[in-house]
Amino acid sequence: MDLDLISKLPEHKPSIFMEMNRVAAQYNAINLAQGFPDFDVDPELIRLHQEALTQGHNQYAPMPGVFALREAISEKTEKLYGAHYHPEDEITLTTGASQGLFAAIAATIHPGDEVIIFKPCFDSYEPIVKLQGGVPVLLPLENPDFSINWAAFDAAITSKTRMVIINTPHNPSGSILLEGDLKALDARLRNTNILVLSDEVYEHLVFDGKIHQSVCRYPGLMERSFVCASFGKTFHITGWRTGYCLAPQALMKEFRKLHEFTVFAVSHAAQIALLNYLKNPEHYLHLSDYIQRKRDLFLSGLTNSRFTFKPSAGTYFQILNYSQITEENDVDFVHRLAKEYGVGGIPISVFNIGKADHKQLRFCFAKKDETLLNAAERLSKV
Ligand code: GLN
Repeated sequence: MDLDLISKLPEHKPSIFMEMNRVAAQYNAINLAQGFPDFDVDPELIRLHQEALTQGHNQYAPMPGVFALREAISEKTEKLYGAHYHPEDEITLTTGASQGLFAAIAATIHPGDEVIIFKPCFDSYEPIVKLQGGVPVLLPLENPDFSINWAAFDAAITSKTRMVIINTPHNPSGSILLEGDLKALDARLRNTNILVLSDEVYEHLVFDGKIHQSVCRYPGLMERSFVCASFGKTFHITGWRTGYCLAPQALMKEFRKLHEFTVFAVSHAAQIALLNYLKNPEHYLHLSDYIQRKRDLFLSGLTNSRFTFKPSAGTYFQILNYSQITEENDVDFVHRLAKEYGVGGIPISVFNIGKADHKQLRFCFAKKDETLLNAAERLSKV
């Protein structure tokens, strides 16, 4: 039967994260590919979730989220970044940050609107923009630090520019934006109607004493920004699919129209558990130290390897460069690593403009110490 189906994303390939999980499983490799922890969630959070279920929070939550949880998020944001978001109409709970990214883009991007995206980047930004008929304007982050080239940014701005997407700490590179970057963006967007979508899912994973540069710290940026955040990344519960979006009232009003007709509301019991868990800021304030120690453990195991690297500044990803090992392209090499050495990773070229191959692989270090030491030992044999 000819259904006359015209794909809206004809070039789309299945997610690299699923593909590399599959490859890791096929070769029984240590899976440092997709970003998720292999250690247990705090039993207290599990207990709170069970309690919420038995207490009967099993019907729809309010469409934008449980109000008390929105209040808790508002307080947390104010304490951390000095920014006030009203729980009533400026905060919405989302099904993972991914749904927040989708709703923010779908709510504001019209056909022909240009959206500036820095590459490499998380794989969903570009397809979501294209689904709206928007035009992704791709700018490369500069190697070796994955920094923004502000002159190139200036040249990319046109009368059609509607949105800039930023991501700090940055997936897949593990780099962070600095105060100077946020100020540069702020100065450039002043007196324009350009929106910002700020993906800050790794906000609690910034290392070596640096601070997270949220757009919330900059009033000029905050007033034009959607900020997407993730409980999955912060509390090691990626499977719960819980996150939230912050935005000024006018933006949030449009955001919620998308939210209502896609998920309507997020798991009620999960929200009650998170509300109670958030009451103790200790649950997120020391995450950076905990994960930095894992980064250092992983890297100390690689001192005698032939991979070269610069320690990640944030996220739970480490880029390793293998140009001293082989000329192979990164997709072939990452498959061979899984097959012959038993370690799964992610090739960076799939996130680059024109699939440019800089001989870089990404490894997730949110793993048990023994997993990291085993993986490092295997990688040291390459
Ligand atoms: N954020 C995770 C990563 O970068 C994966 C998310 C996903 O698989 N969609 O590995």
